Amino acid sequence: MEPTNYLYSTLQSAQAAGDKVCMFLVDSEPITYAALDRAAAQFAHALVSFGVGPGDRVAAQIEKSPTAIVMYLACVRAGAVFLPLNMAYTATEVAYFVGDAEPSLLVVDPSRLDSLRDLAALGNATAVMGVVTCDHHGNGTLRDRAFAQYDTFCDVERGPDDLAAMLYTSGTTGRSKGAMLTHGNLASNSMVLKDYWRFTEHDVLLHVLPIFHTHGLFVATNVMLMAGGSLIFLPKFDPDQILELMPLATAMMGVPTFYVRLLGHRGLTLDATRHMRLFVSGSAPLLAETHREWNARTGHAILERYGMTETNMNTSNPYDGERIPGTVGYALPGVDVRVTHPDNAEVLGANEIGMIEVRGPNVFAGYWRNPEKTAAEFRPDGFFVTGDLGTIDDAGYVRIVGRGKDLIITGGYNVYPIEIEAEIDAIDGVVESAVIGLEHKDFGEGVAAVVVVSPGVGVTAASILAALDGRLARFKQPKRVFLVDSLPRNAMGKVQKNVLRDTYRGTFTSETGVA
Ligand code: AMP
Repeated sequence: MEPTNYLYSTLQSAQAAGDKVCMFLVDSEPITYAALDRAAAQFAHALVSFGVGPGDRVAAQIEKSPTAIVMYLACVRAGAVFLPLNMAYTATEVAYFVGDAEPSLLVVDPSRLDSLRDLAALGNATAVMGVVTCDHHGNGTLRDRAFAQYDTFCDVERGPDDLAAMLYTSGTTGRSKGAMLTHGNLASNSMVLKDYWRFTEHDVLLHVLPIFHTHGLFVATNVMLMAGGSLIFLPKFDPDQILELMPLATAMMGVPTFYVRLLGHRGLTLDATRHMRLFVSGSAPLLAETHREWNARTGHAILERYGMTETNMNTSNPYDGERIPGTVGYALPGVDVRVTHPDNAEVLGANEIGMIEVRGPNVFAGYWRNPEKTAAEFRPDGFFVTGDLGTIDDAGYVRIVGRGKDLIITGGYNVYPIEIEAEIDAIDGVVESAVIGLEHKDFGEGVAAVVVVSPGVGVTAASILAALDGRLARFKQPKRVFLVDSLPRNAMGKVQKNVLRDTYRGTFTSETGVA
């Protein structure tokens, strides 16, 4: 049998040899599938020439660009493990990832070179690691080397269990951990999503997500390469630009913030979205209200799905059936999802709240060099404990109630922040809210709400508390409401509750109670 590179062979769609456009770019010529394949071959040779061997990690802290995609594909072809890093990370943070992952090559934006060359920051890893550069145009020492190489490459043989990528978790509790993703994890998930969401070579996807994260790199990019469609590849989210380009596209994948911001744009109309067949949302909860507003304005029901770095995608609302706001849909084909009791791991019945667990070919191979943590998160029968709390209804729709660590236990009662947030968000003049638990002298934890209100409408902390009285059991009502201009969010649009908990720490330990 021909030796194969498991992931790359599935990403090489029927279009790969031809002039079919893979990426449309705003400031330069489109890139065809054939050109992408040739560039990936040249970069794979360059990686090898820098000493990268099969199984070696290649860490890349570079801007979103077509070259970053080429580099990812080159790593896959060379049998290496691609490790993308958010540009927002400081040199000290990069030093942690480099020290932990021990890559054989670090690719950085030239603007970062000086801070990273600080050998003290990078520690021992620099002794064995090469450092090359790549800017947002793709220029740098890596491309200089690649341009001198042949544009065909004999892909390194890799099977489904070999590592293709490593993504560090967002690390909102404790240090961030490297999630090891195999060729089989990535290929199987993209294959399922391509079919589930009906992607074909006729699709044109608005690609606006960052590519250091599973959503933009694996969901958006892998699915489209597999389908042989085209990407409109944009460096960042800009509502004006998106609405201008939407008539050329058929699909978009985004985080909820994208949809909220587009709803705030006058250009979002039935006409503007007429050519689109699919809007996908994920990575953070999409408010049911956003779903409904979007439907009313555009006639499209946003398709919400649920996944995480460690598991790729787990569930999705259906393509043809009902896309129910506030749910993340059914378990994807081949994926088992169950809900278990947080204390004794017993499998729970329909609509009972518990830990969401998943099993399937999509689930990662474990945390990098952390067998204890890996063992702690897997059940003996292979289910991975996601850390999310949720329910599954009789029809099989999964609902996420919140992160396990966000659950508030006050005076012995469980409070699910999402329930309180929904009540607060329904108050006239409230834009959005985040409910957190803060250490409390008497109750263990006390409920606090951080709320953004529309300016000039007269909503106050007291009026919010008054509106909740009678609508929520007393123990669920916030003991304090903080009004803020905006909620802290990470690049994927997730509200950073750990930041809020830090900000308001001590609120209830220095006072006795109800505000
Ligand atoms: P990450 O590993 O950064 O992709 O984050 C994964 C986490 O994001 C999940 O464990 C969920 O808590 C959250 N998440 C992803 N998709 C959704 C969704 N559709 N609704 C609510 N939370 C989501």
